[in-house]
Amino acid sequence: MSIPLRSLFLRHLAQTSPAPMGIEVDHAEGIYIHGKNGERWIDLISGISVSNVGHRHPRVVEAIKSQVDRYMHVMVYGEYIQSPQVHLAERLSSLMPGLDSVYLVNSGAEAIEGAIKLARRSTGRKKIFSFKDAYHGSTTGALSLMSSDYFTSPFKPLLPELYHLDSYDHSAIEQIDTDTAAVFIEIIRAEVGAIPVEKEVLQAIQARCKAVGALLVVDEIQTGFGRTGAILASSAVDIQPDILVLAKGMGGGLPIGAFMASSKLMHMLTDEPVLGHITTFGGNPVCCAASIATFDVIKELDTEQSVPEKEAFIRKKLIHPALKEINGKGLLLALDFGEEALAQRIIRTCITNGVLTDWFLFAPHKLRMAPPLNITEEELGTACDIILRSIDEALELNHGNGN
Ligand code: PLP
Repeated sequence: MSIPLRSLFLRHLAQTSPAPMGIEVDHAEGIYIHGKNGERWIDLISGISVSNVGHRHPRVVEAIKSQVDRYMHVMVYGEYIQSPQVHLAERLSSLMPGLDSVYLVNSGAEAIEGAIKLARRSTGRKKIFSFKDAYHGSTTGALSLMSSDYFTSPFKPLLPELYHLDSYDHSAIEQIDTDTAAVFIEIIRAEVGAIPVEKEVLQAIQARCKAVGALLVVDEIQTGFGRTGAILASSAVDIQPDILVLAKGMGGGLPIGAFMASSKLMHMLTDEPVLGHITTFGGNPVCCAASIATFDVIKELDTEQSVPEKEAFIRKKLIHPALKEINGKGLLLALDFGEEALAQRIIRTCITNGVLTDWFLFAPHKLRMAPPLNITEEELGTACDIILRSIDEALELNHGNGN
């Protein structure tokens, strides 16, 4: 008798927690993930803000197939001229004035690592600031940007001269000084439960960085590619990063990330030392082809217009006494239930009822809602009805348990 896949998963795949969601996937299409036993879930988390154009978008699949028919990996990043890389970089360069040079990597954390190195190399300074309860990735450098002792202390020592600012306010801004190489920010604080930072504060941070010669690094790994409406959340609040970091939704379901800067800045990784940052798989041509197709689909979705409309639809529809508030912007939303046990029960009930959701790293009392951007209002309506029913059921369960 063959060993069940679940047992093999638990036995042979390194586990990230004692309680994995453990959904056994058969196939995925559009907004749906289909299970082994005929289950079908509406995916409201998009693999954590990755599947912005849904699963297996036909244009993305087609681009992948035609690139596979031409070539896959041919050489480490940066040596050969590969048209998917070049065309993708050209597209990305049009996103934000001044950011005309793109370094392609494989993931968000790797892009963050590149940004840390570029900031230190180009300013000649060591000190770096990030904000409390931000998540920028799990590699040693990216983890150093994380403030939580719980997550970091077993892995110390991490990178030196990394400091965490308590909150996005003026006392934090004053700490940014002439020894500072870079300040890493998010436009929407994703893992505290999708809290948008005020435009004035972001602009004050930008002004302070400019005044003291520190670089402003904007992590749009979760907010990029139309997730909050505009292709970049920075543009909507008039923020001009010195280094922009992208990943997740960028590949339409394939792994790719990037850090972007001006050519002048990026040149610092070219010389003294030569090969200042290198990667074997960065800019894999198949991932780049998928990314270009994703870009086209997102543009056609007119997310600037359609995503706020979908957000408004959700906010109107999701009204329940147990739901304290909805945080976030566009289709990066957090449903705040005020307490962890209830939120977790609702999340589990949603999954039983056919909707995949999740919580946030630093906000387990909030339910994550980040569906594919091409979800229709009708589909959203169905998903919201299931959430509302699941809240009722979870509350009944609560009473049943004497809570
Ligand atoms: N930055 C943000 C805002 C993220 O949400 C994440 C991942 O969740 C990362 C960085 C790290 O990206 P990756 O998991 O691709 O390394």
